[in-house]
Amino acid sequence: MNSILLKLCILGGAAIIVTLIVIVVFIIISHINPFTYPVIKYSIDISGRKQPSYKDCVDQWVIDNKDYNAVNHYNHVISKWDNDCRRILEKTHLGKERKTQIYNNMKNAVNSSEYPIYQYVFFRRQVRYKQSNYKKQAYSVNNTEGVYKLTLKQLLEIYDELEEIDFETTRQKYYAKNQRKLMTKELRQLIIKRDNYTCQKCGKYMPDEVGLHVDHIIAIKNGGKTVESNLQVLCDKCNYRKGSKKQN
Ligand SMILES: [Zn+2]
Repeated sequence: MNSILLKLCILGGAAIIVTLIVIVVFIIISHINPFTYPVIKYSIDISGRKQPSYKDCVDQWVIDNKDYNAVNHYNHVISKWDNDCRRILEKTHLGKERKTQIYNNMKNAVNSSEYPIYQYVFFRRQVRYKQSNYKKQAYSVNNTEGVYKLTLKQLLEIYDELEEIDFETTRQKYYAKNQRKLMTKELRQLIIKRDNYTCQKCGKYMPDEVGLHVDHIIAIKNGGKTVESNLQVLCDKCNYRKGSKKQN
């Protein structure tokens, strides 16, 4: 009699523990979002390029793919993702309310104009070697260096801005070219006279203008403008020194 009671107690205890585990697992599963958000990914090889500007690289990508229909592609990816979501949700054993809640949460996140669906992955190829049969064999791996994320709206804005300049070049290069064009003979003479033929770093006087440079204080490639306040006279030496400092 006693041994039967003991067995029942053990069985009961085991049943309670199993039930608790099942409940805990169910709670965990029902709170995990089992889906991934949609991404449109492009890889850009920046091997051999020293500190490229990601923004500039994306501009170049848009120029190279100017016939790409971003809106169509976006709608296609979103509708496929939407279908996949519904299908997977139907297969789960979640309550109807919970399913709707998960679906709406995800849909809202993805539909928001802040959602960065575009991911440009920048990678460098690296050659590695392995030893096989006493021979050294080269193989290459791609090392991701950074990811630049964009919303559809941002990508379309870039497209519009580049279209305005007929996809001639990236916005950064176009800006630099225009700023260089603004450097007229008249402006040059104005700066030389203003600075009295004198290097603004070391004070060298160059009345014959030999070795005299009109320098952008903030370089054009860093967004500097060709305006009087950003220009100065430098001598050969100081200009060279400034240039070599910038590269380091
Ligand atoms: Zn100088």
